[in-house]
This record gives sequence, C-alpha cells and structure tokens, in this order.
Amino acid sequence: MNSHDKQAFEANKLEKRLCRQVGQAIGDFNMIEKGDRVMVCMSGGKDSYGLLDILMKLRQRAPVPFELVAVNLDQKQPGFPEEVLPAYLTQAGVPFHIEAQDTYSIVKAKIPEGKTTCSLCSRLRRGILYSVARRLGCNKIALGHHRDDMLQTFFLNMFFGGKLKGMPPKLTSDNGEFIVVRPLAYVAENDLIRWAEHRQFPIIPCNLCGSQENMQRKMVGQMLREWDKKYPGRLETMFTALQNAVPSHLMDASLFDFKNLKTTGVADENGDIVFDEETFPETVGKPFAGVPLVMGQ
Ligand code: SF4
Repeated sequence: MNSHDKQAFEANKLEKRLCRQVGQAIGDFNMIEKGDRVMVCMSGGKDSYGLLDILMKLRQRAPVPFELVAVNLDQKQPGFPEEVLPAYLTQAGVPFHIEAQDTYSIVKAKIPEGKTTCSLCSRLRRGILYSVARRLGCNKIALGHHRDDMLQTFFLNMFFGGKLKGMPPKLTSDNGEFIVVRPLAYVAENDLIRWAEHRQFPIIPCNLCGSQENMQRKMVGQMLREWDKKYPGRLETMFTALQNAVPSHLMDASLFDFKNLKTTGVADENGDIVFDEETFPETVGKPFAGVPLVMGQ
C-alpha cells in the first residue's frame, strides 16, 4: 500500500468510527427522532464542523426523516472572519442562518478590564440561540461537545464543585423549551482533530474575544492528557464509569435509602463481598486499562 492509499484507508476507517459512534450515541439516548428540526450550533471550531459533517452524512442514510439547520452567532468579536462560515455552509449544501449580534461590545462595556467575561458572554449567547431556534422552528439544539469535554467537566465538578456531575448527552434547556443534545458524546477529541485535518475545515480561531483561558479547565485537560499518554485506555475506562453509576456504593442518601436498609435473609450471589478487597483487571486489551485512579500518579 503506498502512502496515499494508506492515508485514504485511515481516513475511511476514521469516518466509519465517527459515524458509528455518533449513530450509537443518537440511538442510546434517543437524541434525534422522526420529524425533528435540529439546530446545529456552529462556532467555527473543529468540533462543530465535525458535528455538522457527521450529522449530514448520517441524515442521508437515517431510517427516519429529520432536518438540520446550521446556525452561527457572529458576536462581532474583533477579527471574526464573517465570510468563512457562510462560504463553507453554502458549498456544503446545508440550510443555515448567521445571527449577527454585537454581544462583544456589551460584554466589554459591562465587565471591568481584567475580569473574566465568559459568564456574561455565554449567558447572552444562550438567550440569543434560544430565540434563533424558536424563530427557525427548531425543536432540538445540537452542541459539539465530545467525550473529552465530558470527562473534563466531570473532574472540574468533582475537584472544584464538590459534585459527582458530568455533562449530559441530552437535557431540557433551562427555559424548558428545547431538547439539547450532544451527538459527539462518544467521540474522542483526537479523532475530531484528525477529521478536521482530513476534511480541511476552515477553522476560525477561538481566542478572538481576548478572554483568558480558564486555568482550572486547562489544568484538568492537561491532567487527562497526561493520564492518557501514561496509561492508555484510562480515559475510555473512566468514560465507561460515567455510564455505570452504583448509587448503593456512593454516599448520596437522596439516590439510595441507606437509612431504611434492611437485611433480606436471602443470599445474593451478586451481593457485596464486604470484607474482600476489590480486584481490577490489569489489562483490558491495553496496558493499565483497569488500574484504579489515584491522584498524582
Ligand atoms: S471565551 Fe470569549 S467568546 Fe467564549 S464565552 Fe468566554 S468571552 Fe465569550
């Protein structure tokens, strides 16, 4: 196989994996149903391009009809290349809408220099996106968060928020009006990076607003990347854990009624072997895949 053939083979494999994982997430969480009109939020970053691209492919062979509308909010940040997304979306042949609203000036006027601007900025953006979805007659909103975003949020909530709480694959919008879905929930960020390179998406840089990076998010992202390098398979294991919560073995009394726990008098072969130490598989396909998590390793 020459190098060109090899590249095409790898790209084909990647495309199949992306379609399979997105299709799986859509099915597992019933993200898209017959007749849905889905607003796909496009920031111009690699994740949103990947999301739209894969959803368009899946739509062509979906067993049920649904519609996609790509939406970009042009927040009038300095240097935003406003021609890039309309040109891409036109040639992609997908219905789209660009909503231009100068939230940048509002944020700059309201937030003192040096203070973080993201909370006001994202609140304004959310309100605008809801009103656009309403105007366009969309009942669902698709966002481009991927597996690594979800893991990062889980650890951020645990380390800094004192909560076992991740980023849901599907939720009702806070105003109660829309279903918000994350069809890239099962997709690894590295695959989206490779897909963006392969498809040569015209990426718009994400630092145009000049906001400082969130240090806590940066730190958690770095920690996860290091683990992934040092212990291949660990991110997959942790992601599987998010789908396997055992309320009786956590300490949240609202999820499990510890107070009224009674003996049953009946042996349960799957019951808890209280005094034995838990064992974990040392290798599940990849080295260290099942090693329990220890901070600072
Ligand atoms: S990084 Fe910039 S554009 Fe993004 S939410 Fe923060 S202020 Fe807004």
